[in-house]
Amino acid sequence: MSARRIGSRKKGRVKGGSTSKRPKSKSTKATKATTARARSGRVPVAVLGATGAVGQTFIRLLQGHPFFEIAEVAASERSAGKTYREAMHWHEGPLPEDVADLVVKTCDPSEVEAKIVFSALDASVAGDVEKAFAEAGAVVLSNARNHRMDPDVPLVIAEVNADHLAILDAQRKKRGWTGAIVTNANCASTTATVALAPLHQEFGAREAVIATMQAVSGAGYPGVASLDILGSVIPYIGGEEEKIEREIAKMLGTLNGRSVVHAPLTVSAHANRVPVEHGHTTCISVRFERPVGPDEAKEVLAAWKGHEICRGLPSSPDQPLVLRHEPDRPQARKDVDTGRGMATIVGRVRADPLMHLRLVALSHNTVRGAAGGSILNAEVLGRLGELPGVAEGAW
Ligand code: NAP
Repeated sequence: MSARRIGSRKKGRVKGGSTSKRPKSKSTKATKATTARARSGRVPVAVLGATGAVGQTFIRLLQGHPFFEIAEVAASERSAGKTYREAMHWHEGPLPEDVADLVVKTCDPSEVEAKIVFSALDASVAGDVEKAFAEAGAVVLSNARNHRMDPDVPLVIAEVNADHLAILDAQRKKRGWTGAIVTNANCASTTATVALAPLHQEFGAREAVIATMQAVSGAGYPGVASLDILGSVIPYIGGEEEKIEREIAKMLGTLNGRSVVHAPLTVSAHANRVPVEHGHTTCISVRFERPVGPDEAKEVLAAWKGHEICRGLPSSPDQPLVLRHEPDRPQARKDVDTGRGMATIVGRVRADPLMHLRLVALSHNTVRGAAGGSILNAEVLGRLGELPGVAEGAW
């Protein structure tokens, strides 16, 4: 199914553009900022959890974005009322001055005006908060685990399964809300899924053993204590193996009317934390419906361009999957920023004596595996006419 056919919206129709029923913001300063930004012609967006590791990546990636403009930032009560500059420890290069002076709001839909909301919230609160925003008519692009496996919530890596966005109609009907929740995967699931997607689409993956080496930025900020991780490997990341084991089959699943049928793929995962700043490296051994050799696998991987709906969108890399042929690549330090952090780098494709094939994949956890993936999902939704205030085909 072509993602361009997702949904049944009429071309040129603008959804949810009115702001007349929005509750008044409590922050005059922030409201003025919102109004000024909206005048720029870009669509105002809010970042929930803006002070954390993923939230900061959102702030960096949205700087100068051609479609979206950061109008509001929100986080916990600990940060609310402070300027963004005061509320967080910035880790993403130069701090964007216009965002630095925004006053941090609470994650309350009566406080946040934007109807496009990027959520980098901690999972302890994301479930209820994201629901409240969707009920209030916002389209929520979530990075948290809470709603990923809900049958009516799309779990999307745009190049892999943008067609799953078609279940949003069923979500709205079932939940009785005008907003929406769209999730992206756990960062390690993302790395493995992009590497497996072309092979699964061609050969039908049935079993995979996946061992991850995950960067410290994946644990958020302040995250893992330096005394625990420096010079060490921690062979445990709470809940991570379970997420990898269930999320990949959903993303590689097929759309059946208004629901997703999970791929018949069994995954065994080992998750390790390693002293790397950014970039999750993933070793994968995989068995297919029939034996698959390295040469035919490399051919398929090299040719894969991902879903056509992504082509030309600002966050879409020229090549979503970059195949390396050197025996010692990919490496986090050298390769993590390939495609502005949005590409997945695959190497060491070789025969496996137990399964059929083994390979190594790497991607940037806070960009491809979180904020960048969410922004690309939003760009696709905009192209499909699924964003408030954006006409289908406008992008
Ligand atoms: P983080 O650095 O710990 O940031 C968490 C954010 O949530 C902060 O902005 C924090 O605000 C906010 N928050 C915490 N408690 C809150 C509350 N009660 N009410 C409102 N806001 C609250 O975590 P992170 O690494 O950025 O991860 C954010 C989400 O993305 C998590 O769900 C995580 O699992 C997911 N994720 C992370 C990665 C990654 O590579 N890091 C990748 C994929 C997905 P304060 O600063 O005010 O406390």
